[in-house]
Amino acid sequence: MNAAVTSSHPVGPPLWLLFELTYRCPLQCVFCYNPIDFAKVENELTTEEWLRVLREARALGSVQLGLSGGEPLVRDDVEEIAAEAHRLGYYTNLITSGVGLSRERLTELKRVGLDHIQLSFQDSTREMNDFLSHTKTFELKKRCADWIKSQGYPMVVNCVIHRLNIDHLDTIIDMAVRMGADYLELANTQYYSWAHLNREHLLPSREQLQKAEQTMLAWRERMKGKMKIFFVVPDYYEQRPKKCVNGWGTTLATIAPDGTALPCHTARMLPGLSFPNVREQGMKEIWFQSEAFNKFRGFGWMKEPCASCEEREKDFGGCRCQAYLLAHDSAAADPVCSKSPQHHVVVTALEEAQRPRVPEAPLIFRRRENSTRLS
Ligand code: SF4
Ligand code: SF4
Repeated sequence: MNAAVTSSHPVGPPLWLLFELTYRCPLQCVFCYNPIDFAKVENELTTEEWLRVLREARALGSVQLGLSGGEPLVRDDVEEIAAEAHRLGYYTNLITSGVGLSRERLTELKRVGLDHIQLSFQDSTREMNDFLSHTKTFELKKRCADWIKSQGYPMVVNCVIHRLNIDHLDTIIDMAVRMGADYLELANTQYYSWAHLNREHLLPSREQLQKAEQTMLAWRERMKGKMKIFFVVPDYYEQRPKKCVNGWGTTLATIAPDGTALPCHTARMLPGLSFPNVREQGMKEIWFQSEAFNKFRGFGWMKEPCASCEEREKDFGGCRCQAYLLAHDSAAADPVCSKSPQHHVVVTALEEAQRPRVPEAPLIFRRRENSTRLS
């Protein structure tokens, strides 16, 4: 369904394009950001369809391409898509668990011009890495790290941090140093999708977080000029929300495996929105005209307290998915904000997290049968 552009702000191009090539993934991470009902999504775009979207978005002004999933390497056309992206002038980044990578594939990806690879680890030990992903992948990931380095790529390691691994931060950083990482991203879990389901297990205590920050700062000092460490603080512990995806419909277009175009990778959970599909509409129409991409652009959609807030230019009212998950209203202020009338929901979750306890409900792994059951 189309709508006229409603924002009074001029709309620039979708500078960042994210292709979620597939929701298939051999891993079963308890914090996975894929939709809970991923099992329902079939009918992945064909190679030709991905290439067409690539060209259309480039003509609109997209410059950066992320190739993710699921595990993008379960498809055998990543090399072809990366090659076309390179030819069109994109800066390309492959976001992978390493499963599906081989020396041969890596050589080919390098040859076709892939610029950047981000390799994820779940923890610093085989036991915990394999437990959190419910797969035996730790040794493979270490091999992948060696191959990536030997191809001359900057070594970019990502580790999602939460209550179950935050106390291992010292050894996680040490592991990254030993691997010769150039960048280490310690991304505290954001509580959407599977991480939201498992939040009781995953939200760290304040004490854990403070200790982790001290550890990280000490390593940052030690590794100055050798390895960059990024530490993304969990926004539940902030008083203001993050400027989610740099503002809805300002910068990022995500294309889901079935061609659904989304302003962010979790937006398809929001009710009452009809998201366009690249099989039915071109990227130009989707970006500028679709109802979904215009819904939360600018400030006209805001309710109080955001509507009259002097900080609204800084955070655009926070994350729409978090507003929906915690306040059951996708147009509400993000409850992370201390000015939100629903901020008490976050405060209660944090109070719970300070107690030493084992939650009654078991961890829910991101696997197909759980997706089907919970959809
Ligand atoms: S978070 Fe884990 S399960 Fe989810 S797509 Fe990434 S590697 Fe796969
Ligand atoms: S009230 Fe809304 S705009 Fe103001 S700081 Fe909070 S979330 Fe941001």
